[in-house]
Formats: sequence, structure tokens, C-alpha cells
Amino acid sequence: MALRTILTQEDPALSKKCRPVTKFDDRLKQLVGDLTDTLLASSGVGLAAPQVGVLRRVTVILDISKEPEEVVVLINPEVIDQRGSDRVPEGCLSAPNVWGYVTRPTWAKIRAQDINGNWFEREGEGTVAQCFCHEVEHLDGHMFTEKVEEFIDPEDMKQE
Ligand code: ZN
Repeated sequence: MALRTILTQEDPALSKKCRPVTKFDDRLKQLVGDLTDTLLASSGVGLAAPQVGVLRRVTVILDISKEPEEVVVLINPEVIDQRGSDRVPEGCLSAPNVWGYVTRPTWAKIRAQDINGNWFEREGEGTVAQCFCHEVEHLDGHMFTEKVEEFIDPEDMKQE
């Protein structure tokens, strides 16, 4: 396992639509291991493969609603249901020092495959629902900054 360099938003990899994973092999396990290590070494709650330059539909999130926090691997994920909406502050490891308010569902259900290719569903509220949406958007080549309604002064985020 190794830490990978997180690309920032001007990198073209972040605006490409990623291809589905079809092979659940050692190479995928290596990628997932590296994404997990890189996420845990950062202050983020989610990291998608295109953020390290790999254009595949793989993302790793930290479910902070669990105690202890749980790393969840999402392969070929889709948001299949969502409810509510809330205007929440958001940031991204690929946009250092950029924060803004976006509208996100308060609850979302995701369908994804695990590292062995088994499909599962998982629900999340609040930050977890927000994270599901944010990460799936990365896999379609979109950054949260495209949907920011109001940018937040980085100084204000530091005080929280
Ligand atoms: Zn992001």
C-alpha cells in the first residue's frame, strides 16, 4: 500500500467520466488499498479514483456516523434514492482551501459493489449522504465547485 498524490481541480483527470470496474483483481485491491491509505492520511471524508489519476468508478469514503468511523469501499456506485435537502458547507481534497455552500439531500441510499464484486446497498444521513453524492459526481467528471451557491471565506472555516 502506498500514499498517492491527490490531483487538484485544474488536472484534466478530474473532468473525465470514469469507466466501470469489470475486473475484481489484485490491481483493484492495490488501488483500493492506496485510496484508503491516502484518505486516512488526509483530513477528508471521501476520495475517488480520478483524484489520484485513475479513471475508474472506485471511491472510498469514511462513514463518520459510525463509532469507530468506518471505511467503506464503493465500486461502480450509484445513488438510487434520496430525500430531503439542506444547504451545507462542502470542500474537497482536490480543492485545497476552497469551501462553499451546496444543496444536498439529508438522506441517500447508494448501490455499489464491494472489493469482491458483490452488490450491496447502504444508507447514509447528513454528511454521509452528502459524501455519497460528492464522490459519485467525481466519477462523472464533476467537481462540487460547479454547484457551489456561495463560496465561504477559508478563514471562517478554520475557526469552526
Ligand atoms: Zn472531492
